[in-house]
Amino acid sequence: MTSSAVYVPASLVLVLWLVRRWRRRHGYGERASRPRELANAELIYMEKLFRIEEPIRLVAKVDRVYRLSRGSLVLVELKTRSSNRAYPSDIIQLSAQKAAVEHQTGEAVEPVGFVTVLDPTSGRRRQSHQVQLLDEGQLIEVAQRRRAILERRTDPAYAHSVRACAGCAFHGRCDRPA
Ligand code: SF4
Repeated sequence: MTSSAVYVPASLVLVLWLVRRWRRRHGYGERASRPRELANAELIYMEKLFRIEEPIRLVAKVDRVYRLSRGSLVLVELKTRSSNRAYPSDIIQLSAQKAAVEHQTGEAVEPVGFVTVLDPTSGRRRQSHQVQLLDEGQLIEVAQRRRAILERRTDPAYAHSVRACAGCAFHGRCDRPA
């Protein structure tokens, strides 16, 4: 195979990625990707950064925030991935966004959010998973534990599910029993 034969598909992949990124950033296809439960909700924020200092220091970038007719807000996180599921890390991410939006804006955010999985090839919505978010106390506990692990004041635990280990970057260095 010649180097130009490799170069053309690589360029095509890059162009498709840039187009998808542009479309996502500008809300193109936002209607098609939103959860059915939010069909009548009002889109109020897209890819917006929120920062708070209290009750914990947080910087959180939301993908989408919608307002329901009753006034409260709902968070949606977009994930381009081949596995059609929501992970615990998505829930922590959305919970941090909830705390940041509530403390910065003073508005109420619903205790459930959505993880919308986009197909890596087509960029289309595969499914929106409704997830229960952590309350503020639970989120603070997670943040304090993370800090304690980073400062070596406590030991990390193994992942609950061995399936999480399959794609883990630390797999080669982890001493988890087989
Ligand atoms: S390989 Fe080790 S560090 Fe990685 S997810 Fe599994 S238990 Fe955690």
